[in-house]
Amino acid sequence: SRRISSNIDHVFQTGCRNVFKNKKKANAALVVLARNSELEGVQKSMFSMERHFNQWFNYPWIFLNDEEFTESFKDGVMNMTSSGVSFGVISKPDWNFSEEKDRGSTEFLRFNEFIQNQGDRGIMYGALPSYHKMCRFYSGYFFKHPLVAKLSWYWRVEPDVEFFCDLTYDPFLEMEASGKKYGFAVIIKELSNTVPNLFRHTQSFIEKYGISVDEKAWSIFTNRRSFGEKESMKLIDKIRINHLLSNFSGGIGTRLLSSLSRMNLPTSFSSKKPFFYGEEYNLCHFWSNFEIASTDLFSSPEYESYFQFLEEKKGFYQERWGDAPVHSLAVAMFLNISEIHYFRDIGYRHSNLVHCPKNAPDELQLPYVPASPEYASSAKPDKPPRVSVRDVFRSGRQTEGVNN
Ligand code: GDP
Ligand code: MN
Repeated sequence: SRRISSNIDHVFQTGCRNVFKNKKKANAALVVLARNSELEGVQKSMFSMERHFNQWFNYPWIFLNDEEFTESFKDGVMNMTSSGVSFGVISKPDWNFSEEKDRGSTEFLRFNEFIQNQGDRGIMYGALPSYHKMCRFYSGYFFKHPLVAKLSWYWRVEPDVEFFCDLTYDPFLEMEASGKKYGFAVIIKELSNTVPNLFRHTQSFIEKYGISVDEKAWSIFTNRRSFGEKESMKLIDKIRINHLLSNFSGGIGTRLLSSLSRMNLPTSFSSKKPFFYGEEYNLCHFWSNFEIASTDLFSSPEYESYFQFLEEKKGFYQERWGDAPVHSLAVAMFLNISEIHYFRDIGYRHSNLVHCPKNAPDELQLPYVPASPEYASSAKPDKPPRVSVRDVFRSGRQTEGVNN
């Protein structure tokens, strides 16, 4: 009898699951900001994350809240994972605006006026002080929380998100090994009325501190639609806007979608560019409800000075600056394009927007591996079928089925 040669793929000898065991781990965790009332949504996200990734990698979960978590929340999330779980309360100054300290002060009245006025103008979430606080917290404080500060890497997870594809490698270690600092799954356009002055202030910051930006990274957010689709596709291997799909025909989803457009990027760049007057923000941002990133980016002195600069401009309550555009502009200012990673392979849904790896443009399509015989019959290996919104949802469910 012949000895089984060692060049047989080891999964056939040791079982698929074992390959993930006893491997080096990153100093990383899955970080979730949530309210007690969101337990069910958090459990759904955890179910999906554990199912498609963390059952093999066992990264700890960290939950943060501006209030104490209830025992039922704690029990509810601990039931969803065999990994370590910790719970952190956010300190008052990290959550509340300083303007709120004295509720009888004119500062507080003005603060409230700004918030109410945003509601009157129909700015999305503008009238919710809690939403402003959440955005400010994610912009300037989450990485300072003691539970997060000790990490080198975090993966941000939100309630009610879903992952569609098994992730069989460790994204933290891969990012570390390839010199990446910030990973995203979706780029979308921000609602302009939430950030009317953010870019102007960011430009002032760049000018004040003489920051030299990587032109490719910077152009993600400043490039207008003056470049042809074909041209832009050439850069897409570095970074591209996702195909964003909606499964409804009304409401917020439609409003968001109507403002979406494919980002176009120029084909040639000089590596560093000086501050340039007359530039405009194209409103693109990495959708920060999904982030896999290095904490170093945020704990750096340059990021801190950017956050403090923005804080002084008061746009976290006088406007409704999201943490997503703030993170995005910081990434563009402080990182090189080679340090940004697009996780095109992670199928992801938050609310009604989906990123599906199947929707990559033809030029970049990964080799198509049929997931099931049904798929195999309709698939052409070199040109996968374009999928409709319904297919994305269906394929998500099928993946679940196939893996069962
Ligand atoms: P959207 O995704 O922009 O619609 O906003 P979400 O309502 O999902 O909020 C973003 C994240 O912040 C989610 O993880 C929420 O659970 C969390 N969050 C928002 N507001 C609060 C709050 O007042 N308290 C706490 N603890 N978490 C919040
Ligand atoms: Mn959300």
